[in-house]
Amino acid sequence: MADVLIVGGGIVGLLSALELADRGREVVLVDAPSLHPPASWAGGGILSPLYHWRYPEPMNRLTLDGPRRYRALVRRLAGPALAAADLNESGLWVEAAGEEAERGLAWAQDHGQRCQVAPLSAHLPAGRAGEGLWFPDVGNIRNPRMLKGLRDGLAALGVTRVEARVTEVTPTARGGEVILDNGERLAAPTVLISAGAWSASLLAPLGVSLPLFPAKGEMLLYRLPPGQVRATILTEQGYLIPRSDGAVLAGSTLTQGDASTSPTAPARRRLETMAVNILPMLADCQPARHWAGVRPGAARDWPWLGPVPGTDGIFAAVGHHRNGLVSAPASAELLAQLMCGETPFVDPADYSLESSSPSS
Ligand SMILES: Cc1cc2nc3c(=O)[nH]c(=O)nc-3n(C[C@H](O)[C@H](O)[C@H](O)COP(=O)(O)OP(=O)(O)OC[C@H]3O[C@@H](n4cnc5c(N)ncnc54)[C@H](O)[C@@H]3O)c2cc1C
Repeated sequence: MADVLIVGGGIVGLLSALELADRGREVVLVDAPSLHPPASWAGGGILSPLYHWRYPEPMNRLTLDGPRRYRALVRRLAGPALAAADLNESGLWVEAAGEEAERGLAWAQDHGQRCQVAPLSAHLPAGRAGEGLWFPDVGNIRNPRMLKGLRDGLAALGVTRVEARVTEVTPTARGGEVILDNGERLAAPTVLISAGAWSASLLAPLGVSLPLFPAKGEMLLYRLPPGQVRATILTEQGYLIPRSDGAVLAGSTLTQGDASTSPTAPARRRLETMAVNILPMLADCQPARHWAGVRPGAARDWPWLGPVPGTDGIFAAVGHHRNGLVSAPASAELLAQLMCGETPFVDPADYSLESSSPSS
């Protein structure tokens, strides 16, 4: 019998598996990517919430350290699937003027983040004019490669991966049991539900009702010569994310309540208009790819992480919404600390499934 069963192999499940394997736990991870493609593959990989200063402290506590945590992960997991260049450390420029810029600067000072006023032309010479804030320490991670690197790293640590859909999680006297769609049953003293946008249906039979919803997002990819987009560029209308090989992602749309993963023509037109507005030369380029993913949406700006009330050993990590890539390393550390009886690095009450309001 495994020590821990993890339901869902997106970034949250994979990093939780890594934290637990590092603590000597035997982990089995059950994932259904062909039925439910992970948001962690579809996302942009910006290592900051959009307009970071608009978020409450419980989210800041999971995200501020994101760039440093990914630097360590890339160093550790680098191999055939993941290279150092997959962490793009070219910084983040955020469009903001007047009072908004003042708020951003004050927030950065309060939270120890390097930040300065800079025009868009300093980071996107061929772009339109714009005023904003420059965060030199915020990069982006090429998330599909990060997932592959993690899967390889976990296999090397002996973590078992089962490709199947979990239809039910039930409490047992010593932990929980998961039922797979092929009828097989697996049991463990600890079970983690980290099934992204599909978590609510597994939690409902356990009596957990949280304000969760699917939130479809679409993205485009352009191929440009490297160096055209010198930093991640964020505006109120959308963003451009440069990868190290010249690929540039343009995102993203957000349709609350939509769990479909097929890209649509209207979203493509919206994203093209947004991208051309930031970088006019894109009017002469055709996007090379267009895709959609389903965010694990939530009606609050930080996730729920912790034990499922009324069970002994079933945990959940849900509602990472727009920020699951940047926050997952910290979420996974907190979960592993709670599961292993260690002192948590943040107050777990803020993330408890029993409460919905932060302590500060
Ligand atoms: C367009 C877009 C752009 C984004 N950009 C960013 C960004 O720039 N920065 C950022 O931090 N975040 C971003 N995000 C958000 C981020 O991708 C998500 O918050 C994060 O990936 C959620 O991770 P997760 O592990 O909770 O869920 P997922 O990645 O969705 O993983 C859930 C996994 O559970 C599996 N699963 C589901 N149900 C079952 C079941 N019943 N049985 C077994 N397995 C199951 C699925 O197959 C999947 O593999 C973006 C998202 C989108 C869609």
